[in-house]
Amino acid sequence: MTQQSNNIQQFLIVGGGTAGWLAVATLSNILQNADCQITLVESNDIGTIGVGEATIPPLLDAIRALGIDEADFIRKTQATFKWGIQFRDWLQKGSDYFHPFGALGRRIDGHEFYQVWLKCRAEGDNTPLMAHSVEAELCTQQRFFEPFNAANTPLASAQYALHLDSGLVANYLRDFAIARGVQRIEGTVSQVHQHQNGDIASVSLIDGQQLSAQFFIDCSGFRGLLIEQTLNAGYHDWSAYLPCNRAVTVQSQNVHDALPYTIATARESGWTWQIPLQHRTGNGYVFCDQFCDDQTATDTLLNAVEGEVISTPRIIPFTTGMRKQCWFKNCLALGLAQGFLEPLESTAIHLVSKTLALFVRYFPSLSDNQFLQQEFNRKVELDYLEIRDFLILHYCTTKRSDTAFWQHCANMPIPDSLQYKIELFKQAGNLVHQDEALFQSSSWYAIFTGMQVFPQRYNPTLDALNSQKLQQSLAAGANAIKQAVSKQPAHMEFIRQYCAA
Ligand code: FAD
Repeated sequence: MTQQSNNIQQFLIVGGGTAGWLAVATLSNILQNADCQITLVESNDIGTIGVGEATIPPLLDAIRALGIDEADFIRKTQATFKWGIQFRDWLQKGSDYFHPFGALGRRIDGHEFYQVWLKCRAEGDNTPLMAHSVEAELCTQQRFFEPFNAANTPLASAQYALHLDSGLVANYLRDFAIARGVQRIEGTVSQVHQHQNGDIASVSLIDGQQLSAQFFIDCSGFRGLLIEQTLNAGYHDWSAYLPCNRAVTVQSQNVHDALPYTIATARESGWTWQIPLQHRTGNGYVFCDQFCDDQTATDTLLNAVEGEVISTPRIIPFTTGMRKQCWFKNCLALGLAQGFLEPLESTAIHLVSKTLALFVRYFPSLSDNQFLQQEFNRKVELDYLEIRDFLILHYCTTKRSDTAFWQHCANMPIPDSLQYKIELFKQAGNLVHQDEALFQSSSWYAIFTGMQVFPQRYNPTLDALNSQKLQQSLAAGANAIKQAVSKQPAHMEFIRQYCAA
């Protein structure tokens, strides 16, 4: 038997939300010359979740890797640019801070920038850390930049993501995949059939059609039709660490030009988001039902919304966690069927594309995939654990005690892995470095600093350097950022000029 005859030739994807269409777009692109039938079944009766509008930079890389033109994508998904997230009222009411994408400052004389900043701070320089972030300054001045003219300027390293309309994204990816030969079937799966060894054999639709395949991708949303309802892969429930378990969402009209960042405001029993798109704003309140009922949450959200509300409030329950095995037997779970970490750092759609990249790396064949499958599942779990710990950090470092929810967050148990990371940081500003980590050092520094967690000391090797020179160097860097940013176009002006049809 040749290796080729061992290749999988039929994939069936169940579900046509962002996860389903990103999966078929990726597979149809990577397998475009292979002898492989890719079919997606989606149910108009069930529909998609219809939220998920803020992203992080790696998603754009995934879109570009598909050969999609960025300006066309932005135009058709009504997207705006995102330099990061502004967190309001998380430390205390009235406080705020930025989590920008991208690096903070540059190494100085071989020393890490953050350590230099710590030393200068210890010696009385109170320039905020964010004065050294290009993205934070772009947020403050509400500007975008001209990427093609940024080389050799402080803007060269700027990293951005998008806010986008998730329904339009699914449509865009659907058209992309169908143009590459993917077959789309509209229908509702009513039954799943298994082989004797437990592998999935086929699914039946309500209209009587039966669809078989060699490998299945479960993108059916929270219900996990294949991975859980059929295969019982199990779920790690992390609600003890991340207590929010419901969200209420509404859309509103824009009242001003879209800001180039997401706003996440801490509220009585959770937090609200504000995500500005070209044509409207997405709003939501993520809360914990132990401390707040649906009506109070809806009222809180509606009071917080700036423009005229243009959709009916919708409640979405969820359980934070992930499948114990995301690839189980001949089934891969993606998107909400795989797991859900609350949307505080906009990581869900990224996890879909990251999982797909890993799946392509450990691609299955018709033979025994057990070893590859184990390694794949281990990697996906590491991604989730990294994000989980990073999210908990936002809550457990609060100094708020004004409501029962925030008292709970300040005192709840945290995982040992996060406890270790916090302790290491507190000693001398060190971080745990993980291979292929999503959140780089600058992200951890941003949250620690925003939540006023500081190391007890800076690295003593810095005492060999001249303090005055270091302070001058930092001031010059911050000033160069400010100047460079001030010459850039306003955010919406850039979108109108470069991305409009
Ligand atoms: P869905 O959109 O629910 O799609 C499920 C699909 O399965 C649908 O097509 C449905 O019709 C189909 N289906 C289900 N059952 C059947 C059946 N029996 N037969 C046939 N078809 C079936 N992500 C981010 O990256 N950024 C964010 O800011 C963000 N915010 C979020 C806020 C909230 C409150 C929530 C809950 C999620 C958020 N997410 C966010 C996550 C994001 O919405 C999802 O990851 C993304 O939309 C992918 O969803 P999905 O495709 O897995 O599921």
